[in-house]
Amino acid sequence: MTKITPQPGIMDIALYQSGTAHVKGVSNVIKLSSNENPYGPSPKAIAAVQDSAAMLHRYPSSDHAGLRTAIGEQHGLNPEQVICGAGSDEIIAFLCQAYAGPGDEVLYTEHGFSMYRISALAAGATPVEVHERERVTDVDALLAGCTDRTKLVFIANPNNPTGTMIGAAEVARLADGLPPHAILVLDGAYAEYVSGFDAGVEIINARSNVVMTRTFSKLYGLGGIRVGWGYGPEDIIDVLNRLRGPFNVSASALVAAEAAIRDTAYVEFCLEENTKWRGWLAEALAALGVPSDTSCANFILARFSDHAEAEGCDAYLQSQGLIVRKVAGYNLPNALRITVGDENACRRIVDAVAAFKGGVK
Ligand SMILES: *Cc1c(COP(=O)(O)O)cnc(C)c1O
Repeated sequence: MTKITPQPGIMDIALYQSGTAHVKGVSNVIKLSSNENPYGPSPKAIAAVQDSAAMLHRYPSSDHAGLRTAIGEQHGLNPEQVICGAGSDEIIAFLCQAYAGPGDEVLYTEHGFSMYRISALAAGATPVEVHERERVTDVDALLAGCTDRTKLVFIANPNNPTGTMIGAAEVARLADGLPPHAILVLDGAYAEYVSGFDAGVEIINARSNVVMTRTFSKLYGLGGIRVGWGYGPEDIIDVLNRLRGPFNVSASALVAAEAAIRDTAYVEFCLEENTKWRGWLAEALAALGVPSDTSCANFILARFSDHAEAEGCDAYLQSQGLIVRKVAGYNLPNALRITVGDENACRRIVDAVAAFKGGVK
């Protein structure tokens, strides 16, 4: 019998580790492991999904015109340059499928989001990782990592799991220094959390080699329904649309996202709470000897003295019903990524870390 094998690269993919949601034997668990919005989706998005239920026998829109128009209005973008996907993960996958194949390289940073590697391998391309500078994207390292085979360069700005970001001048320097055959992808999954930040729109509009990906999974609280989008030069969006399945985003997801992005009052509320409790959490943990870099997103990367302490604290938090994220797989063995929850969640985290640090184990 000959063995039937998949395409090269597929068997090198390690399964994506999603944030845990349960602890055996512990009730009243708070999940702070996936950077979800602690307040849930906008009530208007919930109502839109409920209203969509009676029409679920109908196929969804295949051009996503309603949602693309809403995105265009809210962000001041041309809807013709917007593509919607089943989460921004799908846009990342389209980019890799469209632009990278066997022999090509896909570049990202050492603490970069794991979907870049997975999608590069799925496309048969070679993932290439470069160093960061103290948990911050290093433009020089990325430029030095480019070769004549580099097709895609991914950075998340702000980045997950570090929470740090680089400024517009650095992003522009990266875009302008890439070889002519490479596309820069700005992953803006957390862009909404940065006040006044355009996520790179101005840089994209002035160039032909930069795109961005965005999501409804974080600030908009819609991770469960899978909707994200991309924005870039019309010719690149046209390429991605050719790969896209006609019904890749469900009818419920389309109406939920449109309602969520139009509910600006709710978005404001979530942003204010996040900013307030993120600062409080970071300060309280720092006072306990657990520092973190200033976070630009909805989580903090808490640093412990070593891997053993991080593991010990994670185990203690779990025993208290608090689920955070280990990030050794992101080359950060001494750290834990903690999503900024509501007031109660933040207070419970600080109390538990204090107890752990105080020797209650
Ligand atoms: C959460 C996240 C995404 C978004 O994933 P979706 O597929 O849109 O749910 C993309 N990039 C980064 C860096 C993320 O943290």
